[in-house]
Amino acid sequence: MAERHDVVIVGAGQAGLAMSFELSRRGVEHVLFERSRIAERWRSARWDSLAFQLPNRMLALPGKSYGGDAPDGFARHDEVLRFLEAYAAEIAAPVRTGTEVLALRRDGTAGYLMETRSGEVAARQVVIATGPFHEPVVPAFAAALPASVGQTDAARYRSPEALPEGAVLVVGSGSSGTQIADELLAAGRRVFLSVGRHRYAPRRYRGRDVIWWYEALGRFDVPIDQFPDRRYPPPTVMTGVAGGYDLFPRALVARGAELLGRIVGCSNGVLEIAGDRDAILQAADASCRDFLAAADALAAARGLEGAPGSWTVPPPLEVEERRSLDLAAEGVGAVVWACGYRGEYGWVKLPLFDGSGTPVQRRGVTECPGVYFLGLHWMHTFRSGLLSYVGADAAYLAEEMTGVP
Ligand SMILES: Cc1cc2nc3c(=O)[nH]c(=O)nc-3n(C[C@H](O)[C@H](O)[C@H](O)COP(=O)(O)OP(=O)(O)OC[C@H]3O[C@@H](n4cnc5c(N)ncnc54)[C@H](O)[C@@H]3O)c2cc1C
Repeated sequence: MAERHDVVIVGAGQAGLAMSFELSRRGVEHVLFERSRIAERWRSARWDSLAFQLPNRMLALPGKSYGGDAPDGFARHDEVLRFLEAYAAEIAAPVRTGTEVLALRRDGTAGYLMETRSGEVAARQVVIATGPFHEPVVPAFAAALPASVGQTDAARYRSPEALPEGAVLVVGSGSSGTQIADELLAAGRRVFLSVGRHRYAPRRYRGRDVIWWYEALGRFDVPIDQFPDRRYPPPTVMTGVAGGYDLFPRALVARGAELLGRIVGCSNGVLEIAGDRDAILQAADASCRDFLAAADALAAARGLEGAPGSWTVPPPLEVEERRSLDLAAEGVGAVVWACGYRGEYGWVKLPLFDGSGTPVQRRGVTECPGVYFLGLHWMHTFRSGLLSYVGADAAYLAEEMTGVP
């Protein structure tokens, strides 16, 4: 007879651990299956210099708040890992590491059956907490790049020194791509940054961190259902490196980066570039102006102390945008793909996905009774994929699963 549990949580990152806390609190028997080690992605899918992008006081999960002495600082990613390891130990999470769920399917009407290398496991309920970001997206035309150009992605990139010599093309201008471009410039590399839709704001404005403003403006409270077709807005670029500073693609131009539009193809070592750079940058500038206006209005309405805004959006770029990039002629030795992630759900043999492979769910609840998602990017609000807030979604699901508030 297969091993049987009340609940199986797949994945022991912050989401799985927060779920475990909420189930334990309600006295629900459960186990976490983790294919590798606790919080594996904070160990092996982060580059060396990466720091937590939210202030340390937000390094918190249900039942554990930040206990360090730098609440306004930004932890290195290995400190985030240590926080999660300590949390798992403190809540005595029943994690079975090295246990990959290879398949999840229905088990008659009784529940669900999971295949692992050590046998089958049945569960009445299953929580899929395998992360908001799985495998980096690399476009098919990457295969057409010359073999002389090294290629990596945001999950495998480690440091400037680990890249082949020469100029570097970073593709993607979310926080990952922009931070990587930033440190490549600091290391003296020539950098091309291919931009995609993004938003930005100053790290600090009127004496307060941008996260304080986002909270106060209610930006984190907007549910995904309020966006047409549940399409969430572009990522906001920020960094927590070196205590946090202003970082956005246009800020890198003064330091020598050349900004490009989206890369859309490659033939004979020449990349084809969509002519959308300036439109993308204008939209990003507009997002920053919106932020500044909203923050000023809030400051006036609340009578907040702090210097009035002096921060201004930089002037438009004067350099005409390129439509192609000859990799050899420009001395490009490496390309870093940082253009988003795709889901790895081949092991889920249940009708839980739309045509593009995206989980169909409402606040983690799916059409398959007893199967839930937790920790997805924009699952309910922007908070859902973030460490500091995943606990709220875990509490919601635990109540949904048990009826116990
Ligand atoms: C570069 C980067 C920087 C980020 N920075 C921040 C930040 O500063 N602040 C913040 O709040 N958020 C940040 N995030 C977002 C988010 O906090 C992280 O993605 C975080 O790792 C998500 O935690 P999770 O538990 O949901 O998923 P993950 O950490 O991805 O954990 C999922 C776990 O599931 C396991 N797993 C996967 N498939 C299976 C399977 N079939 N069987 C068993 N186990 C499986 C994996 O090994 C993994 O350990 C960042 C994300 C990225 C990519």
